[in-house]
Amino acid sequence: MTVRTRFAPSPTGVLHLGSVRTALFSWLYARRFKGEFILRIEDTDKARSTQENVSAILEGISWLGLDVDDGPHHQSQRFVRYLEVAEKWLEQGKAYRCDCSRQKLEERRAAQIASGGKVGYDGRCRDRAISADAVDSVVRFKNPLEGQVVVEDAVRGEVVFENSQLDDLVIVRSDQTPTYNFCVVIDDSDMRISHVIRGDDHLNNTPRQINMLRALRVELPVYAHLPMILGPDGAKLSKRHGAVDIREYKEQGYLPEAMLNYLVRLGWSHGDQELFAVDEMIRLFDITDVNQSASSFNPEKLLWLNQQHIKTGNAAGVADQLVPYLVQAGLDPAKGPNPEDVVIAYRERAETLKEMAASARYCYEDFDAIDPKAAKKNLRPVVLEPLREVREKLSDLDDWSGEAIAAAIQEVAASFEINMGKLGQPIRVAVTGGAVSPPIDVTVQLVGKKRVLERLDAAITFIEERAAA
Ligand code: GLU
Repeated sequence: MTVRTRFAPSPTGVLHLGSVRTALFSWLYARRFKGEFILRIEDTDKARSTQENVSAILEGISWLGLDVDDGPHHQSQRFVRYLEVAEKWLEQGKAYRCDCSRQKLEERRAAQIASGGKVGYDGRCRDRAISADAVDSVVRFKNPLEGQVVVEDAVRGEVVFENSQLDDLVIVRSDQTPTYNFCVVIDDSDMRISHVIRGDDHLNNTPRQINMLRALRVELPVYAHLPMILGPDGAKLSKRHGAVDIREYKEQGYLPEAMLNYLVRLGWSHGDQELFAVDEMIRLFDITDVNQSASSFNPEKLLWLNQQHIKTGNAAGVADQLVPYLVQAGLDPAKGPNPEDVVIAYRERAETLKEMAASARYCYEDFDAIDPKAAKKNLRPVVLEPLREVREKLSDLDDWSGEAIAAAIQEVAASFEINMGKLGQPIRVAVTGGAVSPPIDVTVQLVGKKRVLERLDAAITFIEERAAA
């Protein structure tokens, strides 16, 4: 059997972390077993689905690298197919028309609640053979009246539902639009889905879907219902716990691989390993190892993982991802060091790519003024001569390597009998405009010879002018 999993988001909202985790588990399972990953946009709810949300979903999964083998399929384009099945079921007696008015249904429902009985449609139109021209009629599926539906869930284990607790579901509304559970069933069958991996808020739909799949006489997929993701306060993860839209994480400078690493650990583990590369996840993931209990979202851990991936990731790869953040910060990556060198210099300290781009601004753009506090503390007359000497030595350097730069600065420090720290900090302030940067030789190398000499000149003038004032 070919493994075929699907991600079936409804574009009634943006792509949030919970959906991404569902997509990831489906994708990993397909990749692990050399299967196929299908994308299906469940946009039957025309009023609430938007093209903007569809774009956000596509953009999100593409950014995350969850490549799709088949799709996107859009349910809104498959109505003919759904109605064809409904028609066939009517002919075969697996479905029937019902013309009970909304008002009648509501009255009966209220009475059911009042009497404490089973709440749901009572099946009174089952044998009435209502014709197609009946005004405002809907089509209902004849759910089996007796027996049980046993869901062998790959995560939850066996879950049993009594058919007597289900009712005859509307599959086509009076306006000829098919309903949600019906479309899912036809799609899962037509798309030969072998594993339905989704949030456990859909577990209650499963017995209805299984009964309809049986009516289609197709083999049932394996179901795996994933436990919820909670916020740090134990409530269902929502906007009030911070960003839930995956695009906000992209915007903030998270690496997709860090997002995936974080999300894979929400409900799945491999010993106590925390750090996973994507190919490692693929090799190790199995849906049967997913935990049954809800997991909670921890933004600090996500940030920590992001830093770990920045630190341990392939520098050239991280640099490719840094470029858009440099551009976003208004910088021209061509007017400064190779971004890979920025990554190497900053990967121990930056937690996000956005932060890295902001920290490296001085490498790509001249600053208008030195930070006054740093200037006051570090650019004092005592360092004037050493800075002049550093400027001369660096100007003579043909080899702009970290070692040569460090040796030149050390020589000056030794000749003035000051320690490296005392000299390094004024140089840093002069060439970066601030008091924080990577080790001084790395910083000087990053900034580049021309800029370093210009900035040292400016700092020397600054000290001279201040001394004269
Ligand atoms: N469209 C559903 C949702 O976004 C998913 C349905 C399914 O996976 O079966 O929650």
